[in-house]
Amino acid sequence: MTEEERLRDWDRQHFWHPFTQMSCWGDDDPWIIERGDGNYVYDIRGRKALDAIASLWCNVHGHRHPRLDAALCTQLERVAHSTVLGASHPPAIRLAKALTEIAPPGLQRVFFSEDGAEAVEVAVKIAAQYWQNLGNKKKRIFLSLDDAYHGDTVGASSLGGFPLFHGVYGHLHFPVHRLPSPWLLQGQLQGDAGAACGQWLQALEETLREKSEEIIALILEGGVQGAAGILPYPRGILAGAADLCRRYEVLLIVDEVASGFGRSGTMFYCEQEGISPDLLALGKGISGGYLPLAATLAQEHIYAAFLAPFGEARQFYYGHTYTANPLACAVALENLALFAENDLLVRVRERVAQLRVGLDRFASLPYSAMPRQFGLMAAVPLRNPQTGSVYPYGERREYAVCRRAREAGVYLRPLGDSIVLVPPLAVTAAEIELILQVLQNSMAEECTV
Ligand SMILES: *Cc1c(COP(=O)(O)O)cnc(C)c1O
Repeated sequence: MTEEERLRDWDRQHFWHPFTQMSCWGDDDPWIIERGDGNYVYDIRGRKALDAIASLWCNVHGHRHPRLDAALCTQLERVAHSTVLGASHPPAIRLAKALTEIAPPGLQRVFFSEDGAEAVEVAVKIAAQYWQNLGNKKKRIFLSLDDAYHGDTVGASSLGGFPLFHGVYGHLHFPVHRLPSPWLLQGQLQGDAGAACGQWLQALEETLREKSEEIIALILEGGVQGAAGILPYPRGILAGAADLCRRYEVLLIVDEVASGFGRSGTMFYCEQEGISPDLLALGKGISGGYLPLAATLAQEHIYAAFLAPFGEARQFYYGHTYTANPLACAVALENLALFAENDLLVRVRERVAQLRVGLDRFASLPYSAMPRQFGLMAAVPLRNPQTGSVYPYGERREYAVCRRAREAGVYLRPLGDSIVLVPPLAVTAAEIELILQVLQNSMAEECTV
């Protein structure tokens, strides 16, 4: 047995993979990725591919960035982990300060956690306890969107709007009132973004007028429903929602786990709509894609509601063993330094424009439908050129396209009926072109067999 065969064997025997039907695990030659370098990953056999999924939407400056590696090693020489319950440490203190300097105005208080779902859980619990601490016992439900995705813990998936999850875990979820997905509404209105925004805000206002006394908070993804298939909101949804929430005394939570840290073309999408939510959930790109880290940022009035004499037990009862891990915080600090030094966002916006033009080709090809884009992320829907419709779910054609692309040197993943492109922010112009060309070829080849 070779080393690779042994690893494949153990992988099948013992490793239960996330979001994976294990009965067919191994069928399409999943790579065992051994190392990364810049925007590329290498498997155990030495096969190389451009990491066009940014290791699940989190990689920023590429793999093995010398500065990020050095920041990690320097912290490792001091301490790998030490709790922040009843103590503190320099990387977390510095990172909390650095985050408040780049965040939308007023978000001056930072609560750390490990994953995006947790950043959302923390926001949910802070919002719920905020009203309790103020003596308001009537507010009991959350508002969220159809097709929303906020992570996979029970709390975060309660807010999610995926029928698939709700079928299975619905009996565990807390009560949530749902508003339509702005993108789907826009589809029903022949793509008229302005009309969709207006109708959506009207639906929100009707709900608030009726139920605001019971509503703890509205939660929205930052500018795009990512996991639902890269479904961008019409512009104005966030700004309008912020205004209505303030008027009806309902908190606004914005989940920028996917859209944050430059993915939208600005540091946070909130900037593009000129808003500052009560609570902001961050994750994915926060550590440059190196280590599990997330954060929930709060406005001062939220934080203040948890302040009281010790005996009143108003503090926020939440935390984990590895909260604010020093290695993760140290690398996140260096990640932010690189953003500032390299004018990274200027180059990201150039790539966003290039991607927009480059995606045009898919609108007129027989094996794809109109692509969707939000900043430096896109989804290209696959279609059967014979019928013009989606391939049947069980056929896994989207996987087959991605496998071809990987063999041609571009690592991609499907999402529903689409193939998503989410390269590291450090992607070059030539690499964007490579991704588009390889995807086009792979679709053409797969759809004509
Ligand atoms: C990925 C994602 C999450 C969950 O983050 P995890 O780190 O996977 O728990 C939450 N919200 C949004 C918008 C996401 O894209």
